[in-house]
Amino acid sequence: MIDIIEMLTRDPNALGQGLRHASTALDIVKKLKALTERPKLPNREELQPLVTELMQQIMDTKLANMELQEQLLQFKQAALDTEKLQNKLDRYELWETASGSLVYRLKEEHAKEQPKHYACPKCYENAHISILQGGQHEKPCRVCEKFSNVYFFEPKPEAKRVKRTLNVDFGSPHFNDT
Ligand SMILES: [Zn+2]
Repeated sequence: MIDIIEMLTRDPNALGQGLRHASTALDIVKKLKALTERPKLPNREELQPLVTELMQQIMDTKLANMELQEQLLQFKQAALDTEKLQNKLDRYELWETASGSLVYRLKEEHAKEQPKHYACPKCYENAHISILQGGQHEKPCRVCEKFSNVYFFEPKPEAKRVKRTLNVDFGSPHFNDT
């Protein structure tokens, strides 16, 4: 505390330099400056309360700055994440399968980076890529609840009626005579 009083008595501008953002702190510095600019040097009783308040303001400003920096970092991170996600989503385009289902598919220009695949449109709306897995005819989304969304790809060939002969053994159990 004494160092600050001495510093302010000698150079009232010294502390003001770092406090441009804290108007209250600057007001206090102005008061201190006014005190030190009087022909008569200020006594400790006059300076002490102002210096104490100034210290508090500096601490508050530092804390506020730290919080702001923290928030700024969070915003930056969120912006980065959003951009990354958007880039990921932009790699897909809406496409209609041969069976008339609408799904997202990887754009041609990315075909070298990843094998051809399709994504669930419902999940895509929620900014999530869930790759559809399944046979060539049907692929359910394994992320949607209870696989509730199934997408149809290549149409199934006309189901041929297969005649099956009922072949049941009606033989009765054998009992060995004793
Ligand atoms: Zn889905």
